[in-house]
Amino acid sequence: MFKTYIKSRPNEDISILVKPNNHSWNYLCECGEASDLTVKEIQNCNAIFISHTHIDHFVNFDAIVRHQIGMERPITICGPIHIAKQVQNRLLSYSWNLIEENSICYVIKEMISDNEIVTYQLKPPLWDLQTISKENSNVLFHEDKFQVTGILLDHKIPTLSYLFKEYPQTKILLNKELKGGIWVKELKEAFALNNHNKEIQVDSNIFKATDLFHLLHIQEGDSLGIIMDHGAFTENHDKIKNHFNSANKVFIECFYKNKDAEFAKLNYHSFAKESGSIMKKANVKDPIPVHFSRKYNEDEIEDLVAEFFQAYNR
Ligand SMILES: [Zn+2]
Ligand SMILES: [Zn+2]
Repeated sequence: MFKTYIKSRPNEDISILVKPNNHSWNYLCECGEASDLTVKEIQNCNAIFISHTHIDHFVNFDAIVRHQIGMERPITICGPIHIAKQVQNRLLSYSWNLIEENSICYVIKEMISDNEIVTYQLKPPLWDLQTISKENSNVLFHEDKFQVTGILLDHKIPTLSYLFKEYPQTKILLNKELKGGIWVKELKEAFALNNHNKEIQVDSNIFKATDLFHLLHIQEGDSLGIIMDHGAFTENHDKIKNHFNSANKVFIECFYKNKDAEFAKLNYHSFAKESGSIMKKANVKDPIPVHFSRKYNEDEIEDLVAEFFQAYNR
């Protein structure tokens, strides 16, 4: 399960922290100002996901680097085209003569089309951009129990939206007569390998794996979407419907109120009604509108959120 925390305060830009259950690392989505993001959370960060580099999404990047230098491990940064060069430029604006080469390594995953990722590496003190690999994939990041895929949306520049998805897990239903043990692991392995005849020893009894398979079931994993700035256009909506279909929770930008739809169109942003209704069409279970224009006061934002849920519940 993915726990999520909005780390930016209402008068700040956007930054969301993702903490997977039973996992040592956390993950940061967007580098807007975030007064509630702690140094410890920054240091525990395993990957940073940036949708695009408009200043409200990238302004806090230096503060994050400030606390990651000296971690002596690789940290992944994902983003759309040009992200590698832009990260490098930010780093090169400081002097690094006192920093050791192994104090940190940034691995940059740049998504240049919906099925093309270029991986770079950046290390102090020179921060030369090294190309590591190019692959045809939409998987930007993966760990033991989950992966993160991306799609590019149109915001007059490409913006990258992310889907965190846990892999399905094989679970077992035990009872008083049937206690757990090493055999559970063996049974799950036999199930995964389709090995029906494997002998499984439970206490002093030997079973054929196939006779125990009925104890197992597949549990679908959690899913979490982060959809930032995008125009409320058909092409963007088709991609959202497809990529985030039936996701459990999705944070979606909702920059404007319905009455400001004209501004939304002009600035390639979404607005309350469109963000709400695309979440409905994508069958998202728990949509969360975020990233509101700073021109709105508290009451107006309350109205905006109401407009969003009106469209979602229709
Ligand atoms: Zn933007
Ligand atoms: Zn923005």
